[in-house]
Formats: sequence, C-alpha cells, structure tokens
Amino acid sequence: MKEKKTVIVAGAGFGGLQAVKALMRDDRLEIIWIDRTNHHLFQPLLYQIASAVLSPADIAIPARSLTRNIKNVTVIMDEITGIDKEKKEVKLGERILKYDFLILALGAKTGYFGKNEWQKFTSGLKNLNDALQIRRRLLISFEEAENDPSVAAELMNYVIVGGGPTGVELAGSIAELSRRIIKNDFRNIDTSKAKITLIEAGPDLLPSFDRTLSVYTKEALLKRGVNVMLNTRVKDISKHKLTLKTLEGDKEISANIIIWAAGVEAVPITTEITNNLDRQKRILVNQFCSLGEHPEVFVIGDMAAFKNSDEKFLPGVSAVAMQQGRHVARTIRRELSGKKREPFSYVDKGNMATIGRKDAVAELFGFKLKGFIGWLAWLGVHLFYQVGFKNKLDILLTWIWSYLTFGAGVRVITDPIHDYEKDE
Ligand SMILES: Cc1cc2nc3c(=O)[nH]c(=O)nc-3n(C[C@H](O)[C@H](O)[C@H](O)COP(=O)(O)OP(=O)(O)OC[C@H]3O[C@@H](n4cnc5c(N)ncnc54)[C@H](O)[C@@H]3O)c2cc1C
Repeated sequence: MKEKKTVIVAGAGFGGLQAVKALMRDDRLEIIWIDRTNHHLFQPLLYQIASAVLSPADIAIPARSLTRNIKNVTVIMDEITGIDKEKKEVKLGERILKYDFLILALGAKTGYFGKNEWQKFTSGLKNLNDALQIRRRLLISFEEAENDPSVAAELMNYVIVGGGPTGVELAGSIAELSRRIIKNDFRNIDTSKAKITLIEAGPDLLPSFDRTLSVYTKEALLKRGVNVMLNTRVKDISKHKLTLKTLEGDKEISANIIIWAAGVEAVPITTEITNNLDRQKRILVNQFCSLGEHPEVFVIGDMAAFKNSDEKFLPGVSAVAMQQGRHVARTIRRELSGKKREPFSYVDKGNMATIGRKDAVAELFGFKLKGFIGWLAWLGVHLFYQVGFKNKLDILLTWIWSYLTFGAGVRVITDPIHDYEKDE
C-alpha cells in the first residue's frame, strides 16, 4: 500500500467544506481541516441573526460533527499564522503541520477602504460575533428608548452603509422588526417610528443585479419606510455621526447604530503567502486555482482572484467558493490517478436578495423574479444550500411560524451592558 498523501484544508467556510466533502472518502488521503472557529457558517443568513429572526445554531454547524464518522479527516480549531511554501508547512503559532497538498480557503474580512478607524464606530457583518453585536445593540436601543421616550427618536435611528444584498437585507429586516414584530411589545414608545437609512454610493441599490430589479428593490424598501440615499458617499465616520458627500454637497447625519455593509477585503495573511496579489490583496491564481510556482498550493473562494474566460475576476460569492472547492478536490484526486489537470470554469446560476416578508428579487438561470415568486425562489435556494437536516428543519419551522404570526424571533439580550459605555 502506498503512503497516504496529506491534504491540509484551511478554512471551514463554503470553499473548505466542499473541498473536504469531495476528498473525504478517498482512502489515499489524510485530510487535516483547520479553522479558527469550530463551525461552518452560512453567512448569507447572518442578517437574520442580526435582526433577531434566527439563532446562531440555526446557521452554524460544528466541523467536527460534519466529519465525525470519517476516519481520514482530522479537525483542528486554531488560527493559521503562516505558510512556508518551500518546506510545505502550515504554522499554527508554534505548531507546525506538513502537507503534500494545501487548499487555502480563508475567506475575506470586513473592509473599510483603508479607513480602519471607522471600525470603532460601526458594526460590520462577517461572522457570528458581528451579527450578535448588531442584535444586542438594536434590542438595547429599543429598551433604552422605552425607559426614556424623550430620546426615543435619537436611539431608534439606524444607518446602514452599502446598498448591496447585505445592506438591502438588513434594512428590510430591521424595518420588519421595528414596524411589525416588536411593535406591540412596548408601552411607552412606538417602535414603528424607528428611522432606518440605507446609504449607497452608486446610482442604484444591488448594483450587480438587472436594473429593473434594483429599481423594484428601492421602491419596495421605501414602502417599508426605509430612507434610501443613493449617489451618497461616506466621507467620514465618528461616534454616532457620518459625513456624507451627496450630489447636493456635503451633509452630516447622526445615527445611534451605524452598520457597515459596504465591502470586504482580503484576509491579512495573503500578503505573507505571495506578492502576486490583485488590488484587493486577493491571491492571483492560475486557471487551475493554484499558485504557478507551487502547483500543490490551491487558493479558492473570497481569498482568490480568479480571472474567468471573459477576462473578468469572479465575484466573492458562495457559489464561486463551492465550485472551486469541488474542482480543486477533483484535481488532487485526478493527479493521484496520474491524470492531467483541467482548468476551472465557473457556472453562474444567478443572484438573489430578500427585501422582507414575501418579497425578494432573484436572477436565476437568466430569469428575473421579484415579489412573492422571487421570495419563494430565495427561500428554496437558502434551505437547499443550508448544511445539515436539523438546521434546514429548524429554519423552515421558524420561518413558517414567523410568517404566520409575525412573532417568534430571538430577542434575548445576553449582555445588557451598553457597548458604547463599555468602550469609554
Ligand atoms: C453578510 C453576508 C451575506 C452574504 N450573502 C451572500 C449571498 O446571499 N449569496 C452568496 O453567494 N454569497 C453571499 N455572501 C458571500 C459568501 O458568504 C462568501 O463569498 C463565501 O463565504 C466565501 O467562501 P470562502 O470559503 O472563500 O470563505 P468563508 O466562507 O468566509 O470561510 C473562511 C473560513 O476561514 C476561517 N479563517 C479565516 N482566517 C483564518 C485563519 N487565519 N486561521 C484559521 N481559520 C481562518 C474563517 O473562520 C472561516 O470559517 C455573503 C457574505 C456575508 C458576510
């Protein structure tokens, strides 16, 4: 029997999970699966944690439980601190692991266009901690307003920066939370008067969608009472304050909670791995999703800059990461069977974003869907790609229950101390 080859899969996100799933039944391989968290996270539903609809456990599943019966997979929860490509080593602090093949799928982080100082005054939305922080801040703002209704307008004033899918989904769900779900919970305040502002630098929301769907989305949010500001750039952010550049000139607005949904950037480790990076510091990979000078190192998903056949870089979406994960796993298995590599080619199945209850926009296989039909498509796709039968069932039941009752929701505040006071 030949010696087994070691594959290290770095990251338990969309790309890493698909790679492990496609490799794990191959007994020629020993697979080491590393992530700094203990779970795979379904990021597209993070906004439902932030707006108190779902629980963290509904959209996260431990990597260990996914591979519990697979003997050739070892899960390690730790931070990857470095890679030595020449020695074929991954560093976890002092601990060093050797590999024959390495699949890097470490994703991206919230990006502030070089203005990292804005991070202090805003909440990003990239992981469970971010989502729980937004949920806590929102729920506390309602409680504080109930205690002192004279400042309710200041407290229930929320700004979301970024009119892509995350910003749209957050704005729609915070509107639903304040206008419908918690409206009858309070005695001294009217939560439906909460001010929700969505800011987008470009002329349209959802810039990557067909324009008819962008226009529809704007109208649908306006109907839900969201204040939509297009052609508006953020110039500066300080505590509870934003300076904006609008077509009419500069403007200052205030907000109790500022949510940053305007972009992501590469994780810092990319600069240590290679200097072959794109402008967003993602690693430039070849047509096989690997490094030219180190074909045994693959980079996939949000961490990679992959130029498609149309010469455009692929977007940072889960479908790209998943397809690349499966492709590089197949490449490794083919190579061990003495077969040649095949180039990666992305199959774009579409785009979707939800605006609220019974309302979403979707582009699927060239079809444009909106309203209830769009929402049904959105619901089906999000349940289909959710990992684990129990998670699918829990989410479906929660959605049916909240659809029928406008109730449910996860509105427990676990850390009632006001964040901003804590910072001081
Ligand atoms: C709020 C939000 C909404 C989104 N909505 C959609 C959507 O509707 N549709 C869509 O297609 N895409 C959506 N995306 C994008 C999609 O989630 C990403 O494109 C996808 O997660 C990328 O997969 P990945 O495997 O490259 O990275 P990720 O899924 O981000 O996984 C990276 C993993 O690496 C781990 N990691 C990072 N650094 C280290 C380290 N140094 N050591 C150890 N582990 C590390 C992280 O903990 C994480 O588990 C959304 C993203 C966000 C944040």
